[in-house]
Amino acid sequence: MDISGTAREVTACRMCGEEDWQKVVDFGPVPLADSFLEPAASYDDEPRYPLAVISCRSCRLMSLTHVVDPEALYRTYPYTTSDSETIKKHMGHVVAVCVERFGIPEGSFVLEIGSNTGSQLKAFQNAGMRTLGIDPARNIAVVANERGVETLPEFFSVDTAALVKKTYGTPQLILGRHVFAHIDDVASVAEGVRNLLGPDSLFAIEVPYLVDMLERNEFDTIYHEHLSYFGVGTLVTLFQRHGLRVVDVERLAVHGGSILVFVGLDDGTRPTSPAVGELIALEKRTGLHEDATYQRFAEHVEQITGELTALVRSLRAEGKRIAGYGAPAKGNTLLNVCGLTTDDLEFCCDTTEFKQGLVLPGTHIPVHSPAYAKAQDIDYFLLLAWNYGEEIMAKEAAFLARGGRFILPNPRPSIVPSGA
Ligand SMILES: [Zn+2]
Repeated sequence: MDISGTAREVTACRMCGEEDWQKVVDFGPVPLADSFLEPAASYDDEPRYPLAVISCRSCRLMSLTHVVDPEALYRTYPYTTSDSETIKKHMGHVVAVCVERFGIPEGSFVLEIGSNTGSQLKAFQNAGMRTLGIDPARNIAVVANERGVETLPEFFSVDTAALVKKTYGTPQLILGRHVFAHIDDVASVAEGVRNLLGPDSLFAIEVPYLVDMLERNEFDTIYHEHLSYFGVGTLVTLFQRHGLRVVDVERLAVHGGSILVFVGLDDGTRPTSPAVGELIALEKRTGLHEDATYQRFAEHVEQITGELTALVRSLRAEGKRIAGYGAPAKGNTLLNVCGLTTDDLEFCCDTTEFKQGLVLPGTHIPVHSPAYAKAQDIDYFLLLAWNYGEEIMAKEAAFLARGGRFILPNPRPSIVPSGA
C-alpha cells in the first residue's frame, strides 16, 4: 500500500530556508524501518512511504524528500538505547567531555531531549548532576521514570522549554543525542533551546557526520526517521539564524562516525574552538559543497547494492546458509533497497526481545533470538548492526572459530575473515 499522500513533501530547507535542491538517491516507497510486523499470510496492506534524499545547494543539508507524521513514528517507539559495551563506554565519554572540558560543576541541571530509557542521564546522575528527560515515546518514558530518571513524555518545543524553565530552572547542559536528525521543525527546537540557555550553558548535540556517511557509503542510515544528514557548516548556518553559536565540535567513531557539537548563546561566555573552523575547512576539501560528491555517492549506492545482492545470491547458490546479524532500522533500508528476501536470508537474530517472533518491515524476514541463531548451522551472517561490528566479532569468536564468516555491507561489500 503506497500512502505517499500522507507524508509531507519537503519544500524549503529546514536549515537555511532556501529551495534549490539537488536530487541524490531515490529508494522508492519503503515501509517504516521500525514497523516490525506480526507474521501473516499476506502483507498487502503494509504502508510504504517515499524514501529519497536531496541536498540543499545553499547550506548542503542532506534531507529526506518526505516527512512522515512524527505522531505516527514516535508515540510508541520500539527503539531503546543499546546496553552494549560500545555505547556504555561512549556515554561515559560524553559525561567526561562535558564535565572536564567545559567545567560543568557537580549539582548542575542536565536536560536531555529524546532521552529514551534514560541511560545517558543515569551516567550524568552518577557524576552528581540533577537530570530531567524529555521523550515523546510514552512507552519508553514509563521505563525511564521507573528507573529513577524523571522523564516528561513530550516533544521538545518552545512550549515545552517554557514549562521546563518555569518548573525546573535553567539547565547548565541540554543534550540531544541522535535526535536532532529526527526533528522536522528544527526552528522551534532551536528557539526553545535559546530560551532555556544561560550565558555559559551549552546545548550538546550528537549526530551522524555527513562526511563519514558519504566516505563510507553508509546509505543504510537513510530511513524515514532520519530527516536530516549534517555537516558542521550546515549546523553553524542553522544556529546563527537563532542567536546561537557552535562553540566546539568533536568527531566520534560511534554509529559509523558522528559529531558531538556544542552550541552556546551567540553572545554567551564560551569562546569558539578552532575545531569548528577546522571541520568546516575539511568539509570544503572533501567536496561537501559540490554536486559531483553526491552524484558519486549515488553511483556507489547503486554499485554496492548490486554487489551485495550478487554476493549473497552466489553464496546461496552454493548452498550456504545465511542470516542477518541484528535487526536494526538501518538493516531494513539495506535489505529493502537490495531486494533481499526470505529466499536470501533465513532470519535475523537480535537481542531485542520484542522484535523476536516478528518479521522485518518490507522483506518479512523473521526475527529470532541469538539462542535460536546459535542452534542453527549458519555459514554467513550479514552484519546489519555494523556499528557494533567490533563488539559482535569478539562475542562471536566461537562462530568464527568453526569457520563462520561475516558479510560486511560497507564501505564495500566484503567477507571477514577473508580468504576462506
Ligand atoms: Zn539549506
